[in-house]
Amino acid sequence: MQLDPNIVLRPGQPAPVRGTYECDTGCGHTYDADIAGRALPELPFGCRGDGWRLPAAASQS
Ligand SMILES: [Zn+2]
Repeated sequence: MQLDPNIVLRPGQPAPVRGTYECDTGCGHTYDADIAGRALPELPFGCRGDGWRLPAAASQS
C-alpha cells in the first residue's frame, strides 16, 4: 500500500492501515490501531498536536 507518511489524519477519520499512529507533534503519544477503518480517537489531553501520523510501516512496501 502506498501512503504518504507525511499525511496527518484528524481525529475521527478512519485509520487506513493497522499499526501504531503517533501524534504529529512528536510529543510521544501513540495509538495502536488493531483494525483498519476504525475512527482515530481524539488526541490525548495535553497533546498540542492536530492529528495522527501514519505508522512508519505504512510507507514501506
Ligand atoms: Zn501528543
